[in-house]
Amino acid sequence: MGPQKKKTLISALAALYPEPRSELNFANHYQLLISVMLSAQCTDKKVNQVTPELFGSYSSFVTLSQAKLKDVERIIRPINYFKTKSKNLIATAKGVMERFGGEVPETQEELTSLPGVGNKTANVILSERGIVPAFPVDTHIFRLSHRLGLSEGKNPDAVEKDLRKAFPSSEWRNLHHRLIFHGRRVCKARSPECSVCSLRKICPSAGKSA
Ligand code: SF4
Repeated sequence: MGPQKKKTLISALAALYPEPRSELNFANHYQLLISVMLSAQCTDKKVNQVTPELFGSYSSFVTLSQAKLKDVERIIRPINYFKTKSKNLIATAKGVMERFGGEVPETQEELTSLPGVGNKTANVILSERGIVPAFPVDTHIFRLSHRLGLSEGKNPDAVEKDLRKAFPSSEWRNLHHRLIFHGRRVCKARSPECSVCSLRKICPSAGKSA
C-alpha cells in the first residue's frame, strides 16, 4: 500500500472509530495484566463476564497470590484454557509480589519472565500503558493486514514487523485498536461486509474475500 493510501486508511479508521481503546474492562495495572492474560485465545466479551467476580474476590496481587487454585478455576471456567490460566494467574501474582514489589513490571523482558505472559501479552500491556510504542498483532489485525495489502507475513511477528515499518510509531496504538474494531464489526473473518466498508476504495481485497 502506497503512502497516500496509508494516509487515507489512517483518516478513514479515525473517522469510523474516534475513541480507540481496549474493549477489556479494567481499572488499574493489576486488572489490565490479569485481563490481558485471560484474553489470550478468548474474546474480550467473555473476559469481561468473569472479571467482575474475579476482581471482586481478589482485588490485588496480594490476594490473588494467596488464592486457592480450585476457587480461581471455578470463577474463570468459561474462559478457554481456564485450568492453565488459573495456575498462571496465581503464579504471576506471586512473581509480581516476590520479584517486583507488587508492581507490574515495565519492560518486555521482565513481563515475559512471568508465567503465562508471552510477547504479545507484554506488547499489549506496554502499548496500552503508553510505556513503549508497540503494534501487537491479534487474529483481526493479522487478517486485515493481509486483506488490505499491508503485509504478507506468515505469522504475527512478521506482520508486526511490516506494520511497524509501514506506519509512524505515534500511530501504532490507535491503529492497533481501530483495526481490531474494524475486524470485529465490518471486515469479519467469514463474511467481510465490503459493500458497506469505508475502506473499499483502497482495499485490494474488496469484494474478493471469502
Ligand atoms: S473492503 Fe472488504 S476486505 Fe477490504 S477492509 Fe473492507 S471489509 Fe475488509
